[in-house]
Amino acid sequence: MKKSEKEKYLVTAALPYANGYLHIGHIAGAYLPSDIYVRYKRLIGDDVIFICGSDEYGTAIEMSAIKENVTPKEIIDRYHFSNKQAFEDLSIKFDIYSRTSNDIHTKTAQDFFLNLYNKGILTQKKEKQLYSEKEKRFLADRFVEGTCPKCGNEEARGDQCEDCGSNLSPLELINPRSKISGDTPVVKESTHYYIPLDKLQPEIEQWIKTKKNWKANVINYCNGWFKTGLKSRAITRDLDWGVKVPLENNEGKVIYVWFEAPIGYISATKELFIEKGNPDGWKDYWCSENSKLIHFIGKDNIIFHAIVFPAMLKVYGDFVLPDNVPANEFLNQEGNKLSKSKGHGVLVKDIVKDFPPDVVRYTLTSILPENKDSDFHWTDLQSKNNSELAGILGNFINRTVVFAKNKFDNKIPQRYETEKVDDEILNFIKSQKKVISDCYEKFRFKDALNETMNVARAANKYFNDCEPWNLIKSNPQRCETVINNCLQICHSLAILISPVLPTSADRILKILNKDKKDFVWNNAGEICLNHNDELGESEILFPQIDDKQIQAQINSTGMEEIQGDNLITIDDFSKVHLKVAKVIKCENVEKSKKLLKLQIKVGENEKQIVAGIAEYYKPEDLLGKLIVIVDNLKPTKLMGIKSEGMLLAAKKDKDLTLITVDKEINSGSLIN
Ligand SMILES: [Zn+2]
Repeated sequence: MKKSEKEKYLVTAALPYANGYLHIGHIAGAYLPSDIYVRYKRLIGDDVIFICGSDEYGTAIEMSAIKENVTPKEIIDRYHFSNKQAFEDLSIKFDIYSRTSNDIHTKTAQDFFLNLYNKGILTQKKEKQLYSEKEKRFLADRFVEGTCPKCGNEEARGDQCEDCGSNLSPLELINPRSKISGDTPVVKESTHYYIPLDKLQPEIEQWIKTKKNWKANVINYCNGWFKTGLKSRAITRDLDWGVKVPLENNEGKVIYVWFEAPIGYISATKELFIEKGNPDGWKDYWCSENSKLIHFIGKDNIIFHAIVFPAMLKVYGDFVLPDNVPANEFLNQEGNKLSKSKGHGVLVKDIVKDFPPDVVRYTLTSILPENKDSDFHWTDLQSKNNSELAGILGNFINRTVVFAKNKFDNKIPQRYETEKVDDEILNFIKSQKKVISDCYEKFRFKDALNETMNVARAANKYFNDCEPWNLIKSNPQRCETVINNCLQICHSLAILISPVLPTSADRILKILNKDKKDFVWNNAGEICLNHNDELGESEILFPQIDDKQIQAQINSTGMEEIQGDNLITIDDFSKVHLKVAKVIKCENVEKSKKLLKLQIKVGENEKQIVAGIAEYYKPEDLLGKLIVIVDNLKPTKLMGIKSEGMLLAAKKDKDLTLITVDKEINSGSLIN
């Protein structure tokens, strides 16, 4: 392997699967930390490239296409372009955002396969698989459904039963059927290629032992897999949608997506350097002794990036192996695990419409799941913005520039002889610069942010302690020096905060009317602004976020914040009289498709209620039923008909079911 003159950094972020929209959990897992890291590295002058792209093959995409009756290409185009835009909207700036459906990736992945094949590394095995005669295709795991042998769930998937969580293989399913046509498949043999990870384990295990600086969570996962023992793993499948196996007599076979997707990092780097007009340039990063490969991922990807892909690179030869794999744990939202398959979570494309990118970046950075799972709450976003961004950072910048504008004609005042306090604050910034650097180098982004905010906190204290509003009268020269110093600190803060808040850093520079000439990490704590230079226009960096905005988000994302104002006391609850009632008469309401009129008995009383359930129940269905009502609701009229209560029903989308009682009980019984 050759050696380039300067150390290089090859930073990758997990390739998002182009079968769904990105949510904030993905961002907190891999993308925000990697973007912050790359920005920091560039500020200290390191040579970095930042690689990402869409992962566009696999059965889930093919399945979505079949379900929606569109081509897989339509599915991947939709999510590729949307996710690309979402990253841009969050100021996550890759050097390239490629896609694995590109030709260059096909070539690179096929070359990789052939290299291992020609070296005799791959093994072949005959496998029994389900085959649909009707569709003339093998049915991969997600294309089959049947009864779970463990729990009897009749809709278990070929790879997993979602009811009991068992991992399954399609052949274990009882009464398997094709998810596409419902056809009953037959068992047929198919030959597949395998990579013998079991044989490669000792070498990989030895290599990981040398990684003293990897995060504990990553090392622990790896050791867990080593203990169980790696297994030989199939790298081909019988599918249409994928990179074709580049061997004769292998029609209908593609390279398994887990094997082919990480090669996408290499293809994307090649593509980047072709665009730069330097087609061999990618080798300086992938095949050079002093290049450092760093994979940012979420914990679900650790096995592929810390074990499998390194094993692949090793057997291919000539490639650098990862220097670090700083994987994060998961970000939960109100206790629900954010997952693309379950479909909830705050989508990036939505949150960027309502909040500035830096507010989102700041909030997520402060709760990154670096060592354990963490939680996102909408109220955090509000308090982080209002009390930290606006209250600490924005406050210091604003009070400084407004003072200069009002008292010094919007110019940078003179820097006379400094006093001890002035030097102390600059020295503190210089020492913090090292502390923050150390955090970034160790992938401790939450700590880096906190230490950065400590600079802003110290700056506010300095402003308060110096009391420039008094100095302007008592000692105007001293006042000039203090405000000059504060403006220098604003510049330093812009540098230090820019990895996390790139847009705000640019805005601070604009407010200071300063170019990017001195905008390097080393200049934090240094004097970079010249006295008498004109300042720009001041503006509020972080406007307040009010309760109404946050409540709107809670409502629209269906996330209940069960805390504070939403909690009720037992007294509140006891105001509502819930009772069991018996339906003694029921009829349709004339001219209404939705309403039913019910006569009910509540103990000895008879009442009439009108309910909007005619689309779900026929009058005769309800006769004699015991239902649950709110008995003390103020009477009202619906379509001119009196209603003296409300029945309870559960509704979700287009389903509705009445709340009834579990066993026979007298009507009029109180529910509490
Ligand atoms: Zn099951």
